Amino acid sequence: MELKGLCMKCRDDNNKPTMQTMQNITVEEKNNRFSAKGICAVCGGNMFKFLSKDDAAKFRA
Ligand SMILES: [Zn+2]
Repeated sequence: MELKGLCMKCRDDNNKPTMQTMQNITVEEKNNRFSAKGICAVCGGNMFKFLSKDDAAKFRA
């Protein structure tokens, strides 16, 4: 299972954040909202992404 998220450090030629693969994913739940924290596979920078409840269940397993 692969999760992609926006990396604020990996930017394209237009200086926009790009989608990168997230590694070392940790799913968190807060006020019934789910999010994933992880590390960018390319640059090793911290990444964050909101998840749907269904996606959270997948990445928790
Ligand atoms: Zn990156």
